[in-house]
Amino acid sequence: MNPFNNTSHGTQMSANTSTFDNPTRASDYFGCMTFSGDTMLKRLPSDVFAKLQRTMSQGTSLDPAIANTVAVAMKDWAIEHGATHYCHWFQPLTGITAEKHDAFLNPMSDGSAIEQFSGNQLVIGEPDASSFPSGGIRDTYEARGYTAWDATSPAFLLRNPSGITTLCIPTAFVSWTGEALDKKTPLLRSIQALSKQAMRILKIFGHDAGVSHVVGTLGCEQEYFLVEREQAEQRLDLMMTGRTMMGANPPKGHQLDDHYFGAIPDRVLTFMAEVEARLFELGVPAKTRHNEVAPSQYELAPMFENANIAVDHQMITMQVLRMVARKYGFECLIHEKPFAGINGSGKHNNWSMSTSTGINLLDPRADTHTNMQFLVFLTAVIRAVDLHADMLRASIASAANDHRLGANEAPPAIMSIFLGDMLTDILDQLQTGSPKKTKTGGELDLGATSLPHIPRHASDRNRTSPFAFTGNKFEFRAVGSTSAVAWPNTVLNTIVTESIDFLATELEKKAGKNPSAAKLEAAVKAVLKENIKAHRRVCFDGDGYGEAWHKEAEKRGLPNLRSTAESLSAFSTKKARDVFAKYQVLNARELEARYEVLVENYCTVIGIETRTIIQMVRTQILPAGLRTQEELATTVGATLAADVDCAETQADLRHYVGLVNDLRVSVAELEKLAAKHHKDHAIEMRFLHDNIVPATARVRAACDALERVTPDDNWPLPTYAEMLLMK
Ligand code: ADP
Ligand code: MG
Repeated sequence: MNPFNNTSHGTQMSANTSTFDNPTRASDYFGCMTFSGDTMLKRLPSDVFAKLQRTMSQGTSLDPAIANTVAVAMKDWAIEHGATHYCHWFQPLTGITAEKHDAFLNPMSDGSAIEQFSGNQLVIGEPDASSFPSGGIRDTYEARGYTAWDATSPAFLLRNPSGITTLCIPTAFVSWTGEALDKKTPLLRSIQALSKQAMRILKIFGHDAGVSHVVGTLGCEQEYFLVEREQAEQRLDLMMTGRTMMGANPPKGHQLDDHYFGAIPDRVLTFMAEVEARLFELGVPAKTRHNEVAPSQYELAPMFENANIAVDHQMITMQVLRMVARKYGFECLIHEKPFAGINGSGKHNNWSMSTSTGINLLDPRADTHTNMQFLVFLTAVIRAVDLHADMLRASIASAANDHRLGANEAPPAIMSIFLGDMLTDILDQLQTGSPKKTKTGGELDLGATSLPHIPRHASDRNRTSPFAFTGNKFEFRAVGSTSAVAWPNTVLNTIVTESIDFLATELEKKAGKNPSAAKLEAAVKAVLKENIKAHRRVCFDGDGYGEAWHKEAEKRGLPNLRSTAESLSAFSTKKARDVFAKYQVLNARELEARYEVLVENYCTVIGIETRTIIQMVRTQILPAGLRTQEELATTVGATLAADVDCAETQADLRHYVGLVNDLRVSVAELEKLAAKHHKDHAIEMRFLHDNIVPATARVRAACDALERVTPDDNWPLPTYAEMLLMK
């Protein structure tokens, strides 16, 4: 049965929409297209299962002897479920996923074919690395690259809407020298480094018993827009760049706040149900769905998972959203700013650390002021964000996110941490001496006896902070909606690792070996006091949107890197090289390569956008303007010929011709600038940012001015109102 032909979405969890195993419970259905859990247990000999399971749960190295057995079981399972091909699925530096499909069947010369999938094919692949960006790594070395099976992330069956099923094997992608050409390899390295340092803190507090390692936990909320596919296809900008490059504001935006959390339209709800069903099959625990702030904007949030798996699942989520949208006649826009003047889209990156036994290390618990271990981890994050705000900012930099960061509805480009009243109060106490109490929120009495009393959180939410503590995790909100989250999380893990290492060393020095409880407590208080004092400037609970914060941040010496062009150099500093090298996340060349690819990517995106807007203006907007001009002129001519005065229409005509001319002038100016090129990518990036981006904005302004006075039937593009509001 092809799941995409099944339209009974109301019962997404029932056997009705299941793909194959006819599960009757949600738990059977969940992950049924992944090679994990029950599927593995059923199909692998118990000793092989145990070894693979250990690698998956603890990240221990894989016993090569089991690869053949796993490969055969995986292949049989995949073929039984309709797969004909397998692929090594990886995340090159492009920011999307890549896959090269190979058939399980090997044709023989006598016309027959044999099924083949060996352990070797499972473990190692050899795509041609030369077709992926390497940021110069391949210039000095050969083009050869390898993909290597990441057994810690379950293989899955991806079925496209036509029912073609492919076994996808998550892999790392490296050059033949072993240098990482992808986003997964450094992520895995950073998780390992974080674990090693975090274990030291657990040891200091005597909480390491039975804990084999520490994992990153991650849950990413995905915002997106849905527009009619038919309308999107009429817009070259949406098709080429993922955003509208022109479009006058609709009469109604989100001023009425009537969309946020509002009732979800029927077709959208059906779409969401199918997205969730598809994600469930793939083991992605989608949990929450709602309307977002802007009209036609929505959000999907999963349950958090082990960071490596969550990152893979995030990539799958974007793919499934786009794929399923088309089935329902929608185009899913994941771009950070598809519509100017309308709320943009982010991807709140909820991040924490947990022991292998499932204890959240950022859970403050009830008497937070006595929870010294929590306060150490918290201080490590504060120190990391303060010391490396530039890199954290750069980790989410892209041409698309430039439209969002620092604009009025998104977090500012200044990296700061929101802590909330309870933690701020504890930091105050720590800084002045010894913390004695934990503020509680008390209870909210809703004033009607039939309503329950709600325990009030000790802090309110703050949506204006780019990096907020939200109860038991940090929410990195400045991450863009299209971001491949492996990279920001790699940066975050690495900088926090450094601070945990630093604090662990300080504590070990101050407390000495096997300290008494009192000595340990004194050491912790001293170390925290010092570090909070040094790094507290990065904490800010106020309104991040306000102009006052910009001034205040400047006074505090916090960097405000407003654009990609200003921020990417954070990756080419000695400080960056040192921290990545120290924890063996990236060597200098690997880091340099990432910088290069990011710069190149910015230039490519702006290049495509520039050509797109020029083409639209030349082939659609100017012709529409001239047609309207001609109609107006004809009207004026005919009216005057009839001997009727039409001074006002003449004034309209004059005004309209002026607008057409403005557009002509601005596009000519853009064309002239766009003809210039600079060999050096960094110089080109600056040029694009300083010159092309503003020139494009002027063309856009001219288009929008024209749109406002052009008759509807002459305007060649679906308008904002048509795309966002008229459904
Ligand atoms: P909020 O309402 O503050 O946004 P939720 O509890 O709804 O918080 O969670 C938002 C996202 O944060 C979800 O994707 C959730 O899975 C994730 N999340 C919750 N706890 C953690 C954690 N310990 N580590 C990482 N992500 C988490
Ligand atoms: Mg959130």
